[in-house]
Amino acid sequence: MSATKRLVQFFAVPDDPDLVQAQAQAFSRQVPLLYGMLLVNSVVLAATHPTAPDLLRLYVPGLLAAICVTRIAVWWRSRDGGITAAKAKRLLGGTVWAAALLSIGFAAWALSLYPYGGPYAQSHVAFYMGITSIGCVFCLMHLRGAATMVALCVLIPFTTFFAASGNPIFGALAFNLVLVVGGLMIILFNNYRDFGDLVASRAEMARKQAETQRLSDENYRLANVDSLTGLPNRRFFDRQLQVAIEKAEAEHTQIAVARLDLDNFKSVNDIFGQITGDRVLEEVARRIGTLRRPSTFVARLGANSFALIISGATDEASLQACGDVLTAAMRPSFEMKLGTVHLTGSAGLAASKPGDTADTLFDRADYVTWVAKREARGRALVFTARHAEDLSRVRRMEHALHTANLDEEVHILLQPQFDIALNRTTGYEVLARWRSPVLGDVSPVEFIPLAERTGVISKITQAVLRKALAVSARLPKTVRLSVNLSAHDLGSTTAMEGIARLVEQAGKPCRVDFEITETAVMGDIAQANEGLLTLLALGSRIALDDFGTGHSSLTHVQKLPLDRIKVDRSFVAEVTSDPTSRAIIKTTVDLCRNLGISCVFEGIETEQQLDALLGLGGTVMQGYLFGRPMSEDKVLEHIAGESRGWQRQRSQMFGTAS
Ligand code: C2E
Ligand code: CA
Ligand code: CA
Repeated sequence: MSATKRLVQFFAVPDDPDLVQAQAQAFSRQVPLLYGMLLVNSVVLAATHPTAPDLLRLYVPGLLAAICVTRIAVWWRSRDGGITAAKAKRLLGGTVWAAALLSIGFAAWALSLYPYGGPYAQSHVAFYMGITSIGCVFCLMHLRGAATMVALCVLIPFTTFFAASGNPIFGALAFNLVLVVGGLMIILFNNYRDFGDLVASRAEMARKQAETQRLSDENYRLANVDSLTGLPNRRFFDRQLQVAIEKAEAEHTQIAVARLDLDNFKSVNDIFGQITGDRVLEEVARRIGTLRRPSTFVARLGANSFALIISGATDEASLQACGDVLTAAMRPSFEMKLGTVHLTGSAGLAASKPGDTADTLFDRADYVTWVAKREARGRALVFTARHAEDLSRVRRMEHALHTANLDEEVHILLQPQFDIALNRTTGYEVLARWRSPVLGDVSPVEFIPLAERTGVISKITQAVLRKALAVSARLPKTVRLSVNLSAHDLGSTTAMEGIARLVEQAGKPCRVDFEITETAVMGDIAQANEGLLTLLALGSRIALDDFGTGHSSLTHVQKLPLDRIKVDRSFVAEVTSDPTSRAIIKTTVDLCRNLGISCVFEGIETEQQLDALLGLGGTVMQGYLFGRPMSEDKVLEHIAGESRGWQRQRSQMFGTAS
């Protein structure tokens, strides 16, 4: 770098924005002191030279003072809105020039007073220039260029003037001043360097702090925000609920929790793929977002479940209205690139009560959502006193289920499946019964869904299967048993392996079949298929249970390795009265015929139903008309009776067990 360039750079304002800002801030604090000192000293100097003409005594210092006051005003104004880097650069650039001009101006003015005073007054001129320049350099210590400019613009005329005055005392004075200012400049340069380093390290520290803050913000976001929808996640929701319930308790107000679970969302992923599934979830979040009031907190709790914390009106009617709006918002179709998606959402809402914890409130909303999913799919339910009673019973039941000795407490009943063509019972459905020492007999309609929800179902399935295999070994070889599998079993590789192991251990030929429902295979049809093929390889057959009540029946019929379809009881119940049910039954019979699989009718209770079904081409019948679920001993009697030629009408005498 050339010497001129280096010189220019020395006086120029640095490029570093942090340094420039720090310089401007530090100097802005010295501005009043700098100009104040300069002006007061100048007034005093003018006062010691009364013989000087007015131009020198009044007008020139007046003009210089006006410039000083302008500079003070410029700096004063600069504080409005903070000193940005660009503003600082402009101010500091102006200060270097102002320093040069004012130094020359004041030095020339002071020297021009020299002829108008005696020796003392002349000494005052020298003292004024020396001491004021030292003071100014000191005030400009954060601005290397301006400070050096002052030193040079005063020292050069000062030394030249006094050296040329021929007075040895003034010559010595000039020498003293050069020495002191020289020393002062060395200290000032060192300080300036340290100041630069300090600013740089502070800026570095601030950058690191900002980076740390950014990372911690990012961590916070990752830990608290659902990345797909941008909504708060479960963790955030839990914390927020805790805060909201404490606030409600302190203010004696109420809050409510609403849960919205999308029904059968998994089938969207199955049919359209996960990317479309994600887009649908984003749209769901958007729709909920447009409905929410400012005081409502919305979160995504899990794959297809959302939750809201509602403050404000929490009476039953308001909550029902809120739930209705939520579920209605899910009904309009979702237009996706790959096709139109239809969804429903079931919602459960619960209001807080005094003394509630976040857990108890959430538990209520969770429970009523579960009820909505089962009993009011696609609609909203508000937690009421009836639910409170059910919930406490459910919790007691859950506890009893968890602590139950299932092998002892669960037993099985068998319900005949009568083949019309062969005119005999060819199999029995195995139905679980739970006799709890605490709760007494509990219906499977109650405990099976609970066990599914809590994961205990796999243990129940195994207990039922073990008993069914044992019974099967004692029955004639022409009779098969069919055991119900749950969604939880089909979705778990471990559970399916356990089931396969039990079947395998029982030895061949296997005469135990399995019933699955469409909803159960919905989760992951490929995984369900894998487990079912293993059972098939062991000699079991697979029946699709409750056919017609699921959602995309035909899709599953094609994809699964089925041997039979069981038409749901609800169609059979209406076969004599409802043409639609009859049409569905007829189509299903044809479908089974085409696929070469058998068709079983469930829940036949009357001769009229049986006749109607026979007319439609039904072959295998199950229902109270053919026999209620019965114990193993009764089954043995039933088979013996049949082999003695008993007719099906008489089978009703076994209908006492249930
Ligand atoms: P499901 O698999 O559809 O079983 C048939 C249900 O219909 C049985 O009720 C049976 O008693 C009843 N049923 C049979 N014939 C008639 C009839 O003519 N009229 C009427 N009204 N009902 C009839 P159950 O035993 O109460 O079982 C209810 C449900 O509980 C079963 O429905 C099944 O989903 C589940 N379940 C029962 N045992 C097990 C099991 O071991 N494992 C699993 N996962 N679920 C089971
Ligand atoms: Ca069944
Ligand atoms: Ca069924």
